[in-house]
Amino acid sequence: MKYIGAHVSAAGGPEQAVTRAREIGADAFALFTKNQRQWKAKPLTDETIAAFREACETHGFSSRQILPHDSYLINLGHPAREGLEKSRAAFLDEMQRCEQLGLSLLNFHPGSHLNKIGEAECLARIAESINMALAETRGVTAVIENTAGQGSNLGWRFEHLAEIIDQVEDKTRVGVCIDTCHAFAAGYDLRTSAACTASFDEFGDVVGFDYLRGMHLNDAKSEFASRVDRHHSLGQGNIGLDAFMTIMQDPRIDGIPLILETIEPDIWAEEIAWLRQQTITRQ
Ligand SMILES: [Zn+2]
Ligand SMILES: [Zn+2]
Repeated sequence: MKYIGAHVSAAGGPEQAVTRAREIGADAFALFTKNQRQWKAKPLTDETIAAFREACETHGFSSRQILPHDSYLINLGHPAREGLEKSRAAFLDEMQRCEQLGLSLLNFHPGSHLNKIGEAECLARIAESINMALAETRGVTAVIENTAGQGSNLGWRFEHLAEIIDQVEDKTRVGVCIDTCHAFAAGYDLRTSAACTASFDEFGDVVGFDYLRGMHLNDAKSEFASRVDRHHSLGQGNIGLDAFMTIMQDPRIDGIPLILETIEPDIWAEEIAWLRQQTITRQ
């Protein structure tokens, strides 16, 4: 079973995201539970929480089909104390918002060393940040997203993800989300069915499919191994449709939210329908 959707707007309240997902034929979705470009947000009200939970129930979305994304400002591997503390507090708030909304996953970009500390130290900080957030919350899994490796962002090698997971104490509440555009830009070839399968085999060896809790399905405007993060609509970028066909037929990628962050929301419904069609030819 493949759950397919898109990162929909939560303008007007998180319950609106559920309706928007429904309208495009999605059975998965991603959302921000607060403004992703601001540090602070008003706490969720009881009415908002109730409305969201009710909308999810009405439209048949369980928490395993929903992949909330945290704020872009957070850097859990920040080299300076102040930046790190601010990020950790904001991340804990994001985890608590998920808890309140009945969500079980929180997707985030691991962090950046900003050329001030080494890679290993930054990865250790990220793991410690995760440990701190997990200790203060219940039921929410921290889902680390692979990155394109732009600037000093870590998490672009599968080994980075494995190194973070290795240092997380509660392995039952840590996972990863693989973004196809980021993987491709980081140097994992996906351009043919064989290349795509080989890249995922490598993921399986280095990280393991048990940790795969979601995916972002994006084609790439960026070049292969360019370390540049530019998404494109499916089939219109440098990855091409073969990869998405292959992913939809790969049983190792069942039962998790597969989320479009492609650049034209107007065609999300078509992209979702196309992806769903690829699963049918598996039998
Ligand atoms: Zn992504
Ligand atoms: Zn991206």
